[in-house]
Amino acid sequence: MVIDLRSDTVTKPTPGMLQAMWRAEVGDDVFGEDPTVKKLEEKCAALLGMEAAVYCPSGTMTNQIGINILTQPYDEVICYKGAHIYKYEGGGLAGNSLVSVRLIEGDRGRLTPADVAANLNSNDQHYPRTSVVALENTVVREAGSYYTLAQIKSIGETARAHGLGMHLDGARLFNALAETGDSPSAIGQYFDTVSICLSKGLGAPVGSVLVCKKELEPKARRMRKVFGGAMRQAGYLAAAGIYALDHHVARLREDHHRAQQLAQTLAAQRWVKSIMPVDTNIIIFELVPSVTPRQFLTALESHQVKALAFGPTQIRMVTHLDFTDAMLTRAQEIITKLSF
Ligand SMILES: *Cc1c(COP(=O)(O)O)cnc(C)c1O
Repeated sequence: MVIDLRSDTVTKPTPGMLQAMWRAEVGDDVFGEDPTVKKLEEKCAALLGMEAAVYCPSGTMTNQIGINILTQPYDEVICYKGAHIYKYEGGGLAGNSLVSVRLIEGDRGRLTPADVAANLNSNDQHYPRTSVVALENTVVREAGSYYTLAQIKSIGETARAHGLGMHLDGARLFNALAETGDSPSAIGQYFDTVSICLSKGLGAPVGSVLVCKKELEPKARRMRKVFGGAMRQAGYLAAAGIYALDHHVARLREDHHRAQQLAQTLAAQRWVKSIMPVDTNIIIFELVPSVTPRQFLTALESHQVKALAFGPTQIRMVTHLDFTDAMLTRAQEIITKLSF
């Protein structure tokens, strides 16, 4: 039994999902003729209480399009200093949109209205024009911390008051909502663009959706074409996304529960120096100085368990659809037996 905890992207389609894919009605989506892609886009827009949605191959693309259509070259984006859009998208904001970033420390990656107000450039020719606030929810670099609706509302209101756009990297938005109990549409109202990943905790093999305001849709479609993300009979993939939204949202709390249990076992080990609070499905912990991530991962892999080095001293584990209770028990046994 291989237990893969590197990421929630490692899941494979379930038989039910494969059946839905197999049965999908498709057409050429660049001609606007794929009924399944349309259905997924309409479903996502309705879910977020927004007007439009554009299906894309990846969350990197939906983020890059979102920022691109809310900015002009030389503008500045306010975001958390470890934000995926800044740290893990290959410098795309600079290359694709010619924008700079104002990096915020945040409270475990969460910005406040005061952060926004304090980092807003005044209208002076010296400064880049601040045009967007980009939030991430959950925050992957901070072990899946999440925003409450009240926090998002107050940031949204501050951004609006200053004429700023709002983008949400909601790669794991449904993990956040599984904890807060808020509806997706309650969140959607505060944003111009929202990126949702279907290929993370929701278990689809491919795909992300950029949900947006109606007036932004033509620009979003144009940029998807420019970035090479306009696909043809993509309904086979979109069908997996629809299936994921119908069947894999309500179960996300199971992943969070397993993450809690795994974290408890880890926290009891002498070779674990500290562990970040586990709010959703991501565990990040620090090894004691005498154990390197390489040593740890090698030992773990000898028992067919995979995790990810996350910086020079940290390890990340992520629970997901393909991580079962039996795997949890086995992983806990293995972790308890490791010694360095
Ligand atoms: C995974 C992820 C993305 C998008 O990643 P892709 O692999 O391009 O789909 C965006 N933001 C966050 C926070 C992520 O974890």
